[in-house]
Amino acid sequence: MRIFFLALASAACGFMLSACVKNTQVAESSTSTSTEDTEQSTEVVMPNSDCHNCGMPSLEYPKWVSRADDLYFCSPRCLMIKCMKDPKIKTATTMTVIEYYETKPLAVKDAFFVIGSDVTGPMGNDFIPFADQKAAQDFMAEHKGKKILRFADLTQELLNEALGR
Ligand SMILES: [Zn+2]
Repeated sequence: MRIFFLALASAACGFMLSACVKNTQVAESSTSTSTEDTEQSTEVVMPNSDCHNCGMPSLEYPKWVSRADDLYFCSPRCLMIKCMKDPKIKTATTMTVIEYYETKPLAVKDAFFVIGSDVTGPMGNDFIPFADQKAAQDFMAEHKGKKILRFADLTQELLNEALGR
């Protein structure tokens, strides 16, 4: 019986000791230098790639994924919706959509968007982006598009029209 108690006591002692060591480590890391803080922030390897508007995993739609700096959107549609809800997004340094034919990133400010066409994105009616106006016009004729829109001209009315509301 006595041995049992001894064992218990030493186990408890060991536990307390390790708890104590742990506490010391926590204390040390909480007083870490700014260098370590930088290291911690780089541990967040990828920015959250879920659509900032609807929450869908945007990287699953490589032909539609749109970006405003490190914010991801599943489609130009979600990017436009969010820009109207939160105009701060428009101040992003880099905003890109994926060009419809080339399937490469295209600056939003350079894009010609066709709205009201029969081509839909991951969330339904979408803004179909083209690098040049002629391509947008041809696409519009072929796919029953309604309008060609530049990002700078986007209004709530045009957004509603694009979404078919
Ligand atoms: Zn979305």
